Amino acid sequence: MPPLRIAILGAGPAGLTLARLLQLQTKPEQATITIYERDTGIDSRNQGGTLDLHPETGQYALKKAGLLEEFLKVARKEVAEMRVYDGTDGRLNFLLPASLEGSGQDRPEIDRVILRRMLVNSLQPDTIQWGHRISDITSQSHGGPGPYSINFSSPHDLSPVTADLVIGADGAFSKLRHLLTPIKPVYSGICMFDLMIPNADQTHPLVSQLTGEGLSFFLGGHKAIISQRNSRGVIRVYVSFRKEQGWIFGETFEGWEKDKEELMRKVEGCLDGYDEKMMQFVQAADPESIMPREIFAIPTDKYTFESKPGLTLLGDAAHLMSPFAGEGVNLAMADSADLADSITAYFSNLKGETRTNYGLLDDALNVFKMKMFKRAKPAGEESERNGMIAFGDNAVKNMSGKMGMWKEMMESGGKAWVGH
Ligand SMILES: Cc1cc2nc3c(=O)[nH]c(=O)nc-3n(C[C@H](O)[C@H](O)[C@H](O)COP(=O)(O)OP(=O)(O)OC[C@H]3O[C@@H](n4cnc5c(N)ncnc54)[C@H](O)[C@@H]3O)c2cc1C
Repeated sequence: MPPLRIAILGAGPAGLTLARLLQLQTKPEQATITIYERDTGIDSRNQGGTLDLHPETGQYALKKAGLLEEFLKVARKEVAEMRVYDGTDGRLNFLLPASLEGSGQDRPEIDRVILRRMLVNSLQPDTIQWGHRISDITSQSHGGPGPYSINFSSPHDLSPVTADLVIGADGAFSKLRHLLTPIKPVYSGICMFDLMIPNADQTHPLVSQLTGEGLSFFLGGHKAIISQRNSRGVIRVYVSFRKEQGWIFGETFEGWEKDKEELMRKVEGCLDGYDEKMMQFVQAADPESIMPREIFAIPTDKYTFESKPGLTLLGDAAHLMSPFAGEGVNLAMADSADLADSITAYFSNLKGETRTNYGLLDDALNVFKMKMFKRAKPAGEESERNGMIAFGDNAVKNMSGKMGMWKEMMESGGKAWVGH
């Protein structure tokens, strides 16, 4: 039988981890693995801040991928403190100290771009086709199973490619999802602006002092500023508030890049009611770093999709959730580990077929799908709850109360996590 042509859409954490695992777990005569990615390179756009990888998900996948040691060498193991301030008067309301036993030592942090580089470098040469923006996927068999054509909207002169198994790891607005489910991500009502303050200790000591050594939440008034220490002296700031959909991007989703200074002023204007000191988190940021986002999520009771031979989804493409539980990358990587195992099991179960056995492949993909959604649902629910706390009434009190519970659990020797 010719090798199964596996196309992975997207070189995010899900797609890259999956490609690495498939290259380790399958033989070249069984499968060819190609990633199609719209970015033109590893760091062609702002990849976002730091994230911690959890032992049972992100680290589990890295271990299977033979990359755990490399990760632990570059990750920051020191435990970050967490603070909750009242954004309206700038007062510290709660501090979760870094020194508490069990407060996260086994969840080291890594900058996203470093994680991406590590995964990309682990792949065989030419696995990733950079600069390939997918427009849609079509079946070549008129109602039957695959193979499928992957079509590109840029570069314009690119011919479609053929694949027997197409895996949507292309994030929130997956081009494959609509073939498997009519469910679309729903706007949460919250928009978020990602900003960076370089050399904060030297240039903006007040911002540095308020941020402390880890993560600070400035809450109240249905808004949030979250500031986070990153590597190389950078403080990353997420400013979020409730706004109607389209406020940032207008009708066309285009054009905001043209005047980033103006966008910064609009963001600052939306922090009305916040203490004057809080404005520094926007004023101190590099305007070039601004990255606006509308936060979308798939409702957790809609975490499912149809089985179609030769097609599947993972990561955000399958179970997009708001970022308020810090679980998305971890889940995406754990999904990759399970999907790689299911595809490997498919190859083990073949008995001399001369063509792709779509029935058997479908069985394997269904096993994966059940595991994936079982894991994702509680995390998605936690994200929803945390979002309600941060942007609801009495946010300062409620978030402090939640952290207070973690503190008590840690002090009594248990483990408490953001998201659990
Ligand atoms: C502000 C913010 C903070 C977050 N913080 C955390 C955190 O601390 N911890 C955590 O675990 N998670 C966090 N998350 C969630 C996390 O970012 C996602 O869950 C995770 O990136 C999902 O990985 P993925 O590979 O499924 O999708 P993505 O990371 O979205 O990757 C999809 C890839 O597909 C590519 N792509 C998309 N469309 C196309 C197309 N048409 N053609 C070709 N390529 C395409 C994209 O360029 C991208 O490279 C956060 C999210 C946000 C928004």
